[in-house]
Amino acid sequence: MPWFRNFIHLVKQSPPQRKPAALMAHSPPSLTQLLRHFSSSSSQIHSNHPGSRPTKGDEKPRVVVLGTGWAGCRLMKDIDTNIYDIVCISPRNHMVFTPLLASTCVGTLEFRSVAEPIGRIQPAISREPGSYFFLANCMGVDFQNHQVHCQTVTEGVDTLEPWNFKVAYDKLVIASGAEASTFGIKGAREHATFLREVYHAQEIRRKLLLNLMLSDVPGVTEEEKRRLLHCVVVGGGPTGVEFSGELSDFIKKDVHQRYSHVKDYIHVTLVEANEILSSFDDRLRVYAIKQLTKSGVNFVRGIVKDVQPEKIILSDGTDIPYGVLVWSTGVGPSSFVNGLEVPKAGGRIGIDEWLRVPSVQDVFAIGDCSGFLESTGKSVLPALAQVAERQGKYLAKVLNDVGKSGGGRANGATALDLGDPFVYKHLGSMATIGRYKALVDLRQSKEAKGVSMAGFSSFFIWRSAYLTRVISWRNRFYVFINWLTTLVFGRDISRI
Ligand SMILES: Cc1cc2nc3c(=O)[nH]c(=O)nc-3n(C[C@H](O)[C@H](O)[C@H](O)COP(=O)(O)OP(=O)(O)OC[C@H]3O[C@@H](n4cnc5c(N)ncnc54)[C@H](O)[C@@H]3O)c2cc1C
Repeated sequence: MPWFRNFIHLVKQSPPQRKPAALMAHSPPSLTQLLRHFSSSSSQIHSNHPGSRPTKGDEKPRVVVLGTGWAGCRLMKDIDTNIYDIVCISPRNHMVFTPLLASTCVGTLEFRSVAEPIGRIQPAISREPGSYFFLANCMGVDFQNHQVHCQTVTEGVDTLEPWNFKVAYDKLVIASGAEASTFGIKGAREHATFLREVYHAQEIRRKLLLNLMLSDVPGVTEEEKRRLLHCVVVGGGPTGVEFSGELSDFIKKDVHQRYSHVKDYIHVTLVEANEILSSFDDRLRVYAIKQLTKSGVNFVRGIVKDVQPEKIILSDGTDIPYGVLVWSTGVGPSSFVNGLEVPKAGGRIGIDEWLRVPSVQDVFAIGDCSGFLESTGKSVLPALAQVAERQGKYLAKVLNDVGKSGGGRANGATALDLGDPFVYKHLGSMATIGRYKALVDLRQSKEAKGVSMAGFSSFFIWRSAYLTRVISWRNRFYVFINWLTTLVFGRDISRI
């Protein structure tokens, strides 16, 4: 799978080790240096690129999409490429099927099952002369001149320095998501691993495997063995609970069989400041706590105050040593969204009922990065894939209709009727808790009445629902085969 190897390489987060300036003076010139040499401004270099210069009358109008998450990918899948060219700008070239990400950390699923390359979701991006994918971060938007300012992602490519370029848009869709929030807790970003990207899951799997191996080597003290094999999860939302469930399943079945020398040392602790699964029905929460406790998960109620390389410290002074620390305490706005000079709704980009950013022309915002403005009378929607996906689908239809009515160009749709506003109906929440059990809460809200169930039947619903939601048939096949082989042969985390 060359594309998969490439994107794993490209998404590595740690910045590349740069050569000291003195050494670089004697190195061959980099591409960036050459480009700079031939142009006074790096942004001019790209101004004639067919995917970045302003579109001309004989070309299709251009929709620029920021982000390859649930919202952006659903939108791009449905955009009519006979009407528009699409330029997608994102620091990753694939979509992550986040609900199944926790399963990849312990080998229940393979990484490729939860990642879908953008070229498969919208083939026009790699085929059409005016459609492109640019591996870059959007750094800012010049709303006045209909341009986005971007910086390439060159991490992992030692010979290239990142460079800046601009892309002109007719319509701009901001779907850049949110960032993991740490509430500013000291040391959390440095020492904890998040669970949002495929490389995070790889990192967790690598640490888990390494610690299992190290704890079996002669010379490791009892205390160190316990620390290495203590998996601490901070955050008792669905992601933290699902990950704890997957881990305890892995320990019960696989560690007991394959790493039996250290089976009595490995433990999972879930730390939560309030209640776990607070958005779920109370009966389901009680059931989840009971089941997870039975599986060996230790619950600690507390507020993390400090994260150190080998332990976390709670506000009551308790120390919790860890070998693997997974941080999952919700999301907050990214620095890119914070920097945009548009009205916000709870820190998210303020939108109207048609998902437009009303203060500027031709700009829309969908998914976790956006929220309804107070003036719409609608409350800010939860940061969920089901919201993001449906907004992407709705907006693709709006843009296609606008394009068909001849309003696809910049400033071309000011007087057009956009049709029905976006309406969100919550379909319910699901979470797996391990041991072939899951929670399904089909109520519209925490206060509403409705069906909520737990157990094996819910687990079956959970699996079927996600099997049908995985984007491509290819990935559905991978997920199905992975689940089947896990059932028959157990997990395999030895392949990273
Ligand atoms: C482990 C996990 C499990 C989850 N499970 C569920 C679930 O079961 N059900 C559910 O409904 N929701 C679930 N969610 C939440 C769901 O994944 C998010 O709500 C959803 O991903 C939001 O989609 P999005 O497109 O807005 O953002 P994202 O999917 O986060 O995508 C954002 C995209 O923007 C890109 N980007 C970021 N900054 C920039 C920039 N400056 N310029 C350009 N591109 C940028 C990112 O690289 C990414 O491609 C889960 C989340 C996680 C992490």
